[in-house]
Amino acid sequence: VASIAIKNAALYEKAYHDARTDDLTGLLNRKYFYKVLNQEFDRNKNHALALMILNIDDFKLYNQLYGATAGDAALKQVSDVIRSAMGDSGYCARYSGKEFAVVLPDFDLLSARNIAENIQRRVAKLCDIHDSDYSMKTLTMSIGICASPYGAVTVKQLIDNTEQAVYHVKRNGKA
Ligand code: C2E
Repeated sequence: VASIAIKNAALYEKAYHDARTDDLTGLLNRKYFYKVLNQEFDRNKNHALALMILNIDDFKLYNQLYGATAGDAALKQVSDVIRSAMGDSGYCARYSGKEFAVVLPDFDLLSARNIAENIQRRVAKLCDIHDSDYSMKTLTMSIGICASPYGAVTVKQLIDNTEQAVYHVKRNGKA
């Protein structure tokens, strides 16, 4: 009986983990990220909280040049960079195919921007491995940031403004 209970607990733990995690990157999935974002927003009502959305530029071309397997590997590398750049400061999710989202409790616009610029620098170096007659397309990311309470007073506003910021960067020539 004890062994069945332990087995069930492990199965439950795995199912719970799988339900909130993105398979490819191991980051939170979008559905669970919304839950975390809402919780953190409520917890930080009187403090700053930044939301960042990071979208890889021209990723379809990257797949066409190097294949989908290399594309998947690049997505994993980018997610590792984001995870390591933010450390224990917040939560990170795969927001859509080639888009990531980061919530940073206690971060204002300026401090979130420092993290974003660090990520951009490190992502640009990912494809810096080349021999003399072959160089890879550099990966760049368009990043939008919004921080409450000055930039938004509701979660919906925070998401809308951050998404608008990404599209503004994309429309204006990308990163
Ligand atoms: P694509 O495969 O030609 O997809 C173009 C757009 O169609 C995607 O833009 C997305 O908005 C939509 N789309 C494609 N498949 C699905 C789907 O199964 N469900 C939904 N709801 N929408 C879908 P997005 O996400 O900005 O991706 C742009 C390009 O980035 C993709 O072009 C693909 O080349 C690449 N990409 C996206 N996700 C992955 C991935 O997981 N692995 C790899 N290797 N490449 C990816």
